[in-house]
Amino acid sequence: MEVKNNEMAIFETHAHLDFFYDEENQDVLKRLMDDCEKSGISRLVIPPISFESNLRIAHMVNEYNKNNEEVKLYQAVGLHPREAINVMYNKNKMEQLQKMCASEQVVAVKTGLDFCKTKLQQHQRQNQITWFKENVKMASCLNKPLILHIREAWNEFKVVWEEVTEELGRENLPTTVIHCFNSRDYEETIELEKGGISYFGIGGKIFTDPILRETVRHLEIENIVLETDSPYLNPEQYVTPKYIDDFMAEISSKLKNPNTPLSLVIIAEEIARIKEMEVEEVIKFTSKNAEKLFKV
Ligand SMILES: [Zn+2]
Repeated sequence: MEVKNNEMAIFETHAHLDFFYDEENQDVLKRLMDDCEKSGISRLVIPPISFESNLRIAHMVNEYNKNNEEVKLYQAVGLHPREAINVMYNKNKMEQLQKMCASEQVVAVKTGLDFCKTKLQQHQRQNQITWFKENVKMASCLNKPLILHIREAWNEFKVVWEEVTEELGRENLPTTVIHCFNSRDYEETIELEKGGISYFGIGGKIFTDPILRETVRHLEIENIVLETDSPYLNPEQYVTPKYIDDFMAEISSKLKNPNTPLSLVIIAEEIARIKEMEVEEVIKFTSKNAEKLFKV
């Protein structure tokens, strides 16, 4: 699929491109972005996986955008919930996040709740919840949208989200996307929409998760954005380019056959199939949604 004009360009709302970035060897990222352009992917949001990665991503995005025009990278800033479990809330760190967040290339705040697998102690849960609330407040304060990562924490999320809504006032809630969306059923999705969640990030799980497929069938296209969460969640059908595999081997990454934003093409096609729409329509709507969400 060759896509040229902006209206028909795919918007990747969640890709950890810093996994493919090496300051000494920027050719791999450049090559991947050239391939994105050829596949009609023209804008990408890069969220952090750790506090440190905020700085790394800031540098990468700045460097890339300075030297390239065809594809544009944006940054999201925040403290990842998995990291937040072991970090006591402190003003100093929060101020550092706020400072980073004020940059023009930052289009969103990323936060969430993640109680996946490990058994968390009470204080660890509390750390996560405190950081979550403070990140939401930061997004509201700086008028940036919110990318939410929710894993095995739906019940807690509902409670905490209600508290935040009350505290901020509903009209001050940031525009919000739930990334890598996988609710337990469609009813829950409706509840989330009522709670002020506007967008749902849909990616490679669309091929394997029957509940998600059913949810996407019901969801309005106006509420869907596309994402891969690369290098994670590689759809089985997707073949990783050899230069990416080689690069991962070179940096001794444990990730085999990593996902890249290039798999968005087959993800968009699958959504089109499920929703009985033209793939061009899926791309047009989801990109418009992402523009509205990130105000770009
Ligand atoms: Zn992610």
